[in-house]
Amino acid sequence: MSARRAALQAKVAEHELDALLVSNLANVRWLTGFDGSNAAAVVGTQRLRFVTDFRYLTQSAEQLAPEWEREIETDLLKQVVTGLPAGPFKLGFDDAHLTVRQHAQLGKLLAEHGGDGIELLAAGGIVEALRAIKDPAEIDSIRAAAALADEAFEAVVGAGIVGRTERDVALDLEIAIRRRGAEGVSFAPIVAAGEHGALPHAMPRDVPIPNDTLVVIDWGAQLDGYASDCTRTVATGELDPRARAVYYTVLAAQEAALAALRPGPTGKEIDAVARAVIDQAGHAEHFGHGLGHGVGVEVHEGPRLSKTGDAPLAAGNVVTVEPGIYVPGAVGVRIEDLVVVTADGHEVLNGLSKALRNVG
Ligand code: ZN
Ligand code: ZN
Repeated sequence: MSARRAALQAKVAEHELDALLVSNLANVRWLTGFDGSNAAAVVGTQRLRFVTDFRYLTQSAEQLAPEWEREIETDLLKQVVTGLPAGPFKLGFDDAHLTVRQHAQLGKLLAEHGGDGIELLAAGGIVEALRAIKDPAEIDSIRAAAALADEAFEAVVGAGIVGRTERDVALDLEIAIRRRGAEGVSFAPIVAAGEHGALPHAMPRDVPIPNDTLVVIDWGAQLDGYASDCTRTVATGELDPRARAVYYTVLAAQEAALAALRPGPTGKEIDAVARAVIDQAGHAEHFGHGLGHGVGVEVHEGPRLSKTGDAPLAAGNVVTVEPGIYVPGAVGVRIEDLVVVTADGHEVLNGLSKALRNVG
């Protein structure tokens, strides 16, 4: 944690701020280790302040390093401002997360506190940019979350899913994830059979899973503060030739993108590798989402592997590689691995096979 705090302090100085208000809880957790539901941190080049409310008096004392000044107050923003000097002072805030109302309140409090001596500057994305490069302990946590999710899948899906409803299988996955020690799921599991699988974010239905179809299952665990994310598409018997062809096209696209994954190329370039395979098979219009996203304390974070992913990938990025083909009303396939970019390539963090599997 102290290495993260030091890296952020260097960024605060680099942006010529006196302090950065860290208000997004995922950023607070990454920075301090505090996992309660209400807190903010003020990271100055010299001073480190942490504000939470009375409910977290004891928990924050246990979770925070002594380098943080802890302050307990119900109104976080009021407390943040009370502890600032009169000015001149440049305070960065997270314009991607602070609400319009909070921003107005902050401006009002600052005016009351220091006149126009405190300058409020938009500085969103600073913490997120640091979060995109994982340290070895974070990679271990994500690997452990992925291993737990793999086990839950084997226990539930490996036992057979035909005749059970999509909702029941999704619920069972969630229970299996929690029973194995996870804090919870990293998102509500998707279980989508047949033509329902053609909806990329399908809600599980109260409909029994039939024989001889494909079923898209997308699930993840949240363990020790870190998320996992994986998708497998399984068969429940004999498939028609079109469904098989779609499966193998997505698999070829996924493996081509994986083979290209290393430090250097941009997210856009990796996305294009998968997209070329799918386009060539005549499914250009059936792959409407980006190839992947970063995963860490949040299940969707930077960097993006998509048409807008301009950042070159770097060692320590943890991303999903998840092409899909969605033919409306007919068939859907998505295959997703969770991958860490390493100095000389990449390593897949989940362990389940991608061979077309008949689970019955
Ligand atoms: Zn997923
Ligand atoms: Zn994903």
